[in-house]
Amino acid sequence: MESQQVSLPLKPSQIREKASSDCLLYMDGIDLLARRQEINPSFLSILLTLPDDNAAIAYLRALARETVEKVYGDQVFLRGLVEISSYCKNNCRYCGIRRSNTTLKRYRMKPQMILQCCEEGYRYGMRTFVLQGGEDSWWTDERLCQLVADIRTKFPDCAITLSMGERSRESYQKLFDAGADRYLLRHETANSEHYAYLHPADMSFAHRMQCLQDLKEIGYQVGCGFMVGSPGQTFQTICEDLQFILSFRPQMVGIGPFVATENTPFAKERNGSVERTLRLLAIIRLLHPHVLLPATTALGSLHPMGREQGILSGANVLMPNLSPVENREQYHIYDHKICLGDSVDHCYACLETRIHSTGRRLVVDRGDYR
Ligand code: SAM
Repeated sequence: MESQQVSLPLKPSQIREKASSDCLLYMDGIDLLARRQEINPSFLSILLTLPDDNAAIAYLRALARETVEKVYGDQVFLRGLVEISSYCKNNCRYCGIRRSNTTLKRYRMKPQMILQCCEEGYRYGMRTFVLQGGEDSWWTDERLCQLVADIRTKFPDCAITLSMGERSRESYQKLFDAGADRYLLRHETANSEHYAYLHPADMSFAHRMQCLQDLKEIGYQVGCGFMVGSPGQTFQTICEDLQFILSFRPQMVGIGPFVATENTPFAKERNGSVERTLRLLAIIRLLHPHVLLPATTALGSLHPMGREQGILSGANVLMPNLSPVENREQYHIYDHKICLGDSVDHCYACLETRIHSTGRRLVVDRGDYR
């Protein structure tokens, strides 16, 4: 267990007491952002460029932590992640499992094995299962609905989340009727030109946004999100992402740093910043206080304490990996991914210690949006 001690941040009021007048001005701006639930590009760029040791940044994170605790108390929710297929027909320029990456050995889990992974997660108190995969045409509506229905029958007290990419509205409806409750589909960027830079010409921004709209209308709890520091991202595009979150009001938002990955067109780009991801987690918490916000594995992959720091910046969800150890390396969406060889037992114990160090606790709960 690699956990180290984290120092708990002060309360917002304690940080204010010691602040210089310059910092107080920024803190007033942060209060306004939280009260009005509004953000503009100039204040966003200030928040994202202030030095790490500026008291306003500690204030931002402390206020986010106080905000999440008002809604969800000290609870941190677990989502057991099962990476059901690494086949993907898409060629997203950032993603390690993109179609053109011929260096990967691909796999597709058998439904029986997926159920076994859920069983194991259930034993460790997980009450949400996330089935994630590339866009793999083997997973027809019929097969995926059958799997969802089997999980629903076997684990009636659990939430089922799908993260299987873009499908037709009819498909989303069938999966919802079969028992799926939630769907994660990161919008990736709310700026159409940026979207076109991150994706090949056969993928469309309009379609991705339409999928999110369809999912919401059908009645799913929906998660959108984006990578922090993706190539071509600017303060302006981040601001558009935040505006999109404000107008779409998703129940979940997944953000994590972009990780430059071998055998992709963006292999030589710079990784996204952990510090910037933490600030954005805090900003999202203040703009949308009830949102379910994971401290992502990508955050933990770029910094040994990334997930704890995420929790201390307003996140309230963790997604331990339930996939068979032999498949984890093959689900290579980005380089440096952590927990590749760790058993569920090890991961659970490790997360429990890490979360305890932040003053919060893991709970046995579906962790629905409140
Ligand atoms: N195919 C599904 C979809 O498109 O939503 C789910 C799988 S996809 C690999 C899950 C997420 O991984 C993407 O939404 C993307 O934001 C993230 N991702 C892919 N490549 C990444 C990278 N190089 N660094 C960080 N995150 C990445």
